[in-house]
Amino acid sequence: MIRMLSVRTGIVCLLFLLVTGLNAQSSNDVIAERNVRAHMEFLAGDALKGRGSGTEYELIAGEYFASLMRQFGIEPGGDDGSYIQTVEIRRQSFAAPPTLTYSAAGSAIVLTHGKEILVFRMNSGSATGPLRKINAQDQPVPGSVSLIRYEAGNEEAFGRRFGGLFDSGAAAVLVEETPQFRAGWDRFGSRKVSFSEFGGNAPAAQTAVIVISKEAADTLSKIEDGVEIKIGGNLEEPEINRTWNSVGIIKGSDPKLSSEVILLSAHMDHLGIRPDAPGDDKIFNGADDDASGCVAVIELARILAAGERPKRTVYFVFFGSEEAGGFGSRYFVGNLPFPKEKLVANLQWEMIGRPDEKVASDELWLTGFDRSNLGAELAKHGAKLVNDPHPDQNFFQRSDNYTLARQGIIAHTVSSYGLHTDYHHASDEIGTIDFEHMTRSINSMVGPVKWLVNSDFKPTWYEGKDPSQ
Ligand SMILES: [Zn+2]
Repeated sequence: MIRMLSVRTGIVCLLFLLVTGLNAQSSNDVIAERNVRAHMEFLAGDALKGRGSGTEYELIAGEYFASLMRQFGIEPGGDDGSYIQTVEIRRQSFAAPPTLTYSAAGSAIVLTHGKEILVFRMNSGSATGPLRKINAQDQPVPGSVSLIRYEAGNEEAFGRRFGGLFDSGAAAVLVEETPQFRAGWDRFGSRKVSFSEFGGNAPAAQTAVIVISKEAADTLSKIEDGVEIKIGGNLEEPEINRTWNSVGIIKGSDPKLSSEVILLSAHMDHLGIRPDAPGDDKIFNGADDDASGCVAVIELARILAAGERPKRTVYFVFFGSEEAGGFGSRYFVGNLPFPKEKLVANLQWEMIGRPDEKVASDELWLTGFDRSNLGAELAKHGAKLVNDPHPDQNFFQRSDNYTLARQGIIAHTVSSYGLHTDYHHASDEIGTIDFEHMTRSINSMVGPVKWLVNSDFKPTWYEGKDPSQ
């Protein structure tokens, strides 16, 4: 029951309500450093054992986000009314070292993994295509088995190209050995070759990458383009593994815009425990990579759930097994719970725990900034977002965003990774996190993200920059 108040008390109360009301609203929109620390201490603490891809510790991280999303009033988007989406992975191994075969002058040539070739990456039991000899700086020819010769003196650039080859659209790329590969030939060559498959409509297989000896490259260079090259071998019984995504949804409030989806994501897995790591510390905590990105997503989730319901639908997804091959994101995009064209934009968050000296201290960078108009538009709406200052690192291709971008979805990664040497080492620990930077970074994106989830702006790729074409 409402008690009648004197005018004077009423005004005082009204003022009090206004002040506390405003405070409450603004404090909801501001992320406190202690929140950031709280998440980081749990996710990157030793109890989570480095959240190894597909391990129970990855799942515990997923359940942590599920628990928080429940608390925030975010709807579950996983299996059977839960937040967790389980992905079954079939690990396939070759029973014997796989081979590369072709015929020349009427006889069959067989090159074997560990001897004349190193099978660096396979995505199925076999890869076949016509030979195409290309220059080191050129893109592999889609559908072909492209041969790239090594040019001495250019090791660094050559090595960096490797990451970009996996998604080239070629059936396989044959890369002539570098001195580094020669030095590790026996170690690479003694490894069992395996790959992973999983259910649903996961995106099609990627490019196989084979390192070939100088002698083999010399021989192949004399063969005419178009000769069929086959790589493969017999497979053992598959081993069944699992990974998990943690998925939450805020359904949009606008009758028209609610059918459109903004996806905010980060990967919750890291490298786990590595018994053969040098030194005493065997736990790869992955504080920056990518506990930091997960914290951005869960705090944005808290803020968006607490405020007025966004006009567009927002998905918050914590992907599993990014480090092991992007399995969580590949499964998610292959099994979207809504039509693909309704996914307006994806912002992935990676490694924002420390500032990057290459940009201003309050800036973040966006991978593929010059590929679509999303980055520029977010910047117009207050984001301190600039172009990725490390284009030679191919970061656009190096996180879950690329899985989606390859499907034509506008997808970028927000980061401030300054190429620190703790990357993928046991030393990527909470003690190296700059909490002031990290808290300010996430706060700086609250307004722009709020704008995006409430606007009808649809980002587009710039001419010739769509990675799916
Ligand atoms: Zn990462």
